[in-house]
Amino acid sequence: MKKVFKIIGWSILGILGAFFILGGLFIYKVKNGFPVFYETERPTLFIAKNRPAILVFSKTASFRHGESIEASSPILTEMAKKNQWFLYETESGGVFNEEQLSLFDLVIFNNSTGPVLNDEQQKAFQKYITNGGNFLGIHGSGDDSHRKWEWYQKTLLGAKFSHHPLNPQFQNAKIHVEARADSSFKSWLVGEWNAKDEWYVFYEQPKDAKVLLYIDGDKILPSGNMLWMKDKNFGMGKYHPIAWIKKVGKGNMLYTSMGHSKEVWENKPFQDFIEKSISWTIK
Ligand SMILES: [Zn+2]
Repeated sequence: MKKVFKIIGWSILGILGAFFILGGLFIYKVKNGFPVFYETERPTLFIAKNRPAILVFSKTASFRHGESIEASSPILTEMAKKNQWFLYETESGGVFNEEQLSLFDLVIFNNSTGPVLNDEQQKAFQKYITNGGNFLGIHGSGDDSHRKWEWYQKTLLGAKFSHHPLNPQFQNAKIHVEARADSSFKSWLVGEWNAKDEWYVFYEQPKDAKVLLYIDGDKILPSGNMLWMKDKNFGMGKYHPIAWIKKVGKGNMLYTSMGHSKEVWENKPFQDFIEKSISWTIK
C-alpha cells in the first residue's frame, strides 16, 4: 500500500514540476521570444548588372506563413523574368550588411516575422532605407513580432499592429483603391476586387503615409482572441487601410497587410498589385 502512495506522490510532484517548467517557458517566450539564430556569414552574391536587383527575405523567427511563402516564390520568379528583375531569395540574415544591401534596389520582407535580424543587421538595414533604399513589406512582416524594433514599427511601417480577427479568421472583403492617391500612382488604379484574407487590425491609421488600398472596416468582424479585442478595430474604423506607402528618409516603403495564405497569391488582382508595387518602388 505504501508503495502505491509513493508512486502517486511522485507522479503528482512530476506533473507539478512539468507544469512549472512549461509555465515558466511560456512566460519567458511571451516576454522575450525564443532564442533566434542570427546568421552573420556574408553570402557570395553574383548580381546581374543593368537589371534592378531585389532581395526577397522570408526568414521567420515567429509565426511562419509557410504556404504563402512557398506559393509566392514561383509567382515572384515569373514576374522577375517578365520584368527583367534580378531576384535573390534568402532566409538568411547574413546579407544584411551595409555593403551587400547597397547592391539591391529593393528589399522585400515576404512574411518575414519575429526578431529576424541582430542589432548590427538592423542598423545596416535602417541605414540602407534612409540612404535611399526601398522596402516592400508583405502581411506578417507588419505584425507585432517586430515590436522590439521600434524604428521598424514606428518609422518604417508607421502603424502598430494590434491583432487579427479570429471569429472567423478569414473573411471576404471588397478591396477599394484609394482614389485620393497621388496622380503618379495611377498605375495602381486596377479597380476594385474581392479577396478573402486575414485582415490585420492596427491601433492607428498609418502615420505620414498615403493609403493605396482599403476595405470597409464596418463590413468585417474584427474580434480577436482576447477579451479586450472583442469587436475592436481600434483606430482603423470604417476606413481600414490594407496597403500604404511612405517616404522614410530618402527611401520608399510600401506595406500591404494582405497575403496570409496561398489562395491570396493565386488571386490575379493581388499579383498585379504586387507587380505594380515592385515596379513603383524600384522606379
Ligand atoms: Zn497571417
